[in-house]
Amino acid sequence: MDFQLTEEQQLVRQMARDFAERVVAPTAAARDREHRFPREEFRQAAALGFAGMLVPEEYGGSGLGNLGQFLVIEEVSRACASTGVTLSVHNSLTTSPILGFGTEAQRRTYLPRLASGEWLGAYALSEAGAGSDAAAIACKATRDGQGWVLDGAKLWITSGNEADLIIVFARAPEGITAFLVETARPGFGVGKVEEKLGIRSSSTVEVQFDGYRLGPEHVLGEPGKGLHIAFSTLDGGRISISAQALGITQACLDASLKYADEREQFGKPLRSYQAIQWKISDMAAGLDAARLLAWKAAWLRDRGLPHTREAAEAKLLCSRLANRSADEAVQIHGGAGYTTEFPVARYFRDARVTEIYEGTTEVQRIVIARELMGR
Ligand SMILES: Cc1cc2nc3c(=O)[nH]c(=O)nc-3n(C[C@H](O)[C@H](O)[C@H](O)COP(=O)(O)OP(=O)(O)OC[C@H]3O[C@@H](n4cnc5c(N)ncnc54)[C@H](O)[C@@H]3O)c2cc1C
Repeated sequence: MDFQLTEEQQLVRQMARDFAERVVAPTAAARDREHRFPREEFRQAAALGFAGMLVPEEYGGSGLGNLGQFLVIEEVSRACASTGVTLSVHNSLTTSPILGFGTEAQRRTYLPRLASGEWLGAYALSEAGAGSDAAAIACKATRDGQGWVLDGAKLWITSGNEADLIIVFARAPEGITAFLVETARPGFGVGKVEEKLGIRSSSTVEVQFDGYRLGPEHVLGEPGKGLHIAFSTLDGGRISISAQALGITQACLDASLKYADEREQFGKPLRSYQAIQWKISDMAAGLDAARLLAWKAAWLRDRGLPHTREAAEAKLLCSRLANRSADEAVQIHGGAGYTTEFPVARYFRDARVTEIYEGTTEVQRIVIARELMGR
């Protein structure tokens, strides 16, 4: 067994760390405060190949694979979880299903635009009545000659008001079907923009379809096979949300070490107290263990091996760890941690959503149990 990253992976990680420190970190607090989308950060990420991490070079991508992408999302999320999820949804939830289920023509049409960052991608499964129970979606694709007409609304769509292309799951006569929806065409609209607890620089909106026309060239995969596409895409997305959660955890550890070194009480720095050391040790041990599990899930996905359980386990443990670590990081900072003067308050708010999206903590446990016990 080899625990060493390849030279290329180490280079990618270093490049992502430099990018995160130079471009993403300096604007993170202000974007969070102003609820400002990381448009310029996304443009610069794309210039480094981070908008096409799962896309092979022949379609204009950087072909880093899931493990390479994991390293990038973790580093970016360490600086800003909002920029991390923007990249995660674009790569894992948009480019990945097009590559996996698209026709050659769809790959040639969409992947180069997405991989270059000219277009931004989104993924629309959730609805008001269909969250954990994704199969309950009501968004309707009615047959119209050779094509379909799409009507309905999707809720909580990350980057939905910024995206050029959205993978939309709708109920067609053939069953739940995945469609490629270009947002510049008539019949597409944006509804409510969510005010969120955290990841405030990421946009989360309602998207609406009113008589939006779709041709056969807009169907992703086979009609009626949409749920399979949705869930196998989420297997990959959960690995990348694990990376986001670990990026937040690493940031909590970094900030805690620094503060424990600088802050003195009772005549000694906080780092000299065992109660503080234990919190920091738990964060570090958790990070090392969770990272190995998540890397394994990414490694399995890169090899086309079964990874549904490992992806759910990684998401479960990494997101729980991020929340626990953010809680302890605020505690280590005392009153200062409860203010915006230190970044740990942002980490605390940002960590929360990692237990909710792409399947809640409870849903990950359902997935794991189902894999263990069968349906
Ligand atoms: C910031 C943000 C961004 C998002 N981005 C996207 C996106 O880009 N695309 C997209 O499609 N969706 C997105 N979502 C939606 C997200 O995936 C859903 O919120 C999530 O799947 C949970 O669904 P829900 O909110 O309807 O909660 P519910 O399903 O109503 O669940 C409420 C609670 O009940 C629990 N629960 C539900 N069913 C069971 C059960 N059978 N057993 C035990 N407990 C259960 C849940 O775990 C949860 O704790 C986003 C959400 C947020 C908050």
